[in-house]
Amino acid sequence: MPEDKFKRSRKLYAEAQRYLPGGVDSPVRAHKAVGATPLFIERGKGSKIFDADGNAYIDYVCSWGPLILGHARPEVVRALKKAAERGTSFGISTELEIQLAKIIAAAMPSIEMLRFVNSGTEATMTALRLARAFTGCDKIIKFAGGYHGHADGLLTTAGSGLATLDLPDSPGVPASHAQNTLTARYNDLSSVEQVFHRYPKEIAAVIIEPIAANMGVVPPLPDFLNDLRLMTRDYNALLIFDEVITGFRVAYGGAQELYGVTPDLTCLGKIIGGGLPVGAYGGRREIMKMISPIGPVYQAGTLSGNPLAMTAGIETIKLLGRPNVYTQLEKTASQLQDSIRKSAADNGIRLQVARVSSLLTVFFNASAVVDYESARQSDTSRFAEFFRGLLDRGIYWPPSQFEAAFISLAHNDKDIRSTSNAFEEIFRDFGSREK
Ligand SMILES: *Cc1c(COP(=O)(O)O)cnc(C)c1O
Repeated sequence: MPEDKFKRSRKLYAEAQRYLPGGVDSPVRAHKAVGATPLFIERGKGSKIFDADGNAYIDYVCSWGPLILGHARPEVVRALKKAAERGTSFGISTELEIQLAKIIAAAMPSIEMLRFVNSGTEATMTALRLARAFTGCDKIIKFAGGYHGHADGLLTTAGSGLATLDLPDSPGVPASHAQNTLTARYNDLSSVEQVFHRYPKEIAAVIIEPIAANMGVVPPLPDFLNDLRLMTRDYNALLIFDEVITGFRVAYGGAQELYGVTPDLTCLGKIIGGGLPVGAYGGRREIMKMISPIGPVYQAGTLSGNPLAMTAGIETIKLLGRPNVYTQLEKTASQLQDSIRKSAADNGIRLQVARVSSLLTVFFNASAVVDYESARQSDTSRFAEFFRGLLDRGIYWPPSQFEAAFISLAHNDKDIRSTSNAFEEIFRDFGSREK
């Protein structure tokens, strides 16, 4: 038997399970869907993470998106150290909140005012409360396979961990609550129209990941977002872009810049916290003015606008404002995409590589993926094998078919070459077994 290279992670996992359900604080980390030992990470630097056994991996999870600069970027770490010395939290306003708010509002002109919270979940949850208050309607439309955090009412046919674990929804959500969540099909405007037809005066908002990234990456078809913009306006419903992943990721101004579509409200998280817990929701002033203390819609947070989190966000976004950042991400990610496609073709492996900028998913699927239904056609047992093959070769890929891989500015040519070689070896192995 080969030496156990996950010895210490295994030991920690056994211990963790005594205290933490499933040994984790977020389900996908338990590696259930890919049949691998959950890793315990000790540190990260640039494109790499190092586990408790000292194994190094090229990391394509990047904390699920926030670390677009890679791990422990010196500028961010320096700023954080200085900020920590000045005090970690006050529960009173700091100038840092204005600074980050200004940066975000300048990047996304649809955001005239915003409120910082501590997670993407809080951002979407409150954006919906606000949309309901503003419109006086209770129902919302979401898309099958769309993930918007774990608030009640957003867990029906959700992507991310629920898709990974094949859960249609979650117990504990009152039926009365779930009733107000109507589901449409991503990239299918007629499915949205049907819902509006049925409830023409009852829909508060449509919430969408403008680029679906929690059923794997599924780009919007041409005009889909624009048509959705027009339709929501026709029915006096708000359009909420959940840009928790895509904000500052697919372009400096997010998917709304990339596709030129202006939502009423935007939810942010991940990158704007630079690796610390942050979320935000914002949009048109007349809507945002309904938030307490200037309006009646209540929302608060002990640690909201936390100075460390604001600092990490400010430093991260400052670096993203440098020239050619997004061209570099595009170049690195397209190299990876090309090499995956080539290795797959050379070895007769049928797959789809979906990509927008530095978000990428390999679907083991014979036909193109356009929505949740087609995403779910993917061969997840093959995906699991693929994941383990990469892990064996020192590459940490997202441990789920229904998540995006994240390419960062720290991924260099050498990383891409090593990753491409690993793909080639794995696909050669898959190919030879099929002959
Ligand atoms: C991650 C994510 C969320 C939830 O953010 P958390 O910080 O994990 O609560 C919401 N929406 C989208 C699109 C996400 O990817």
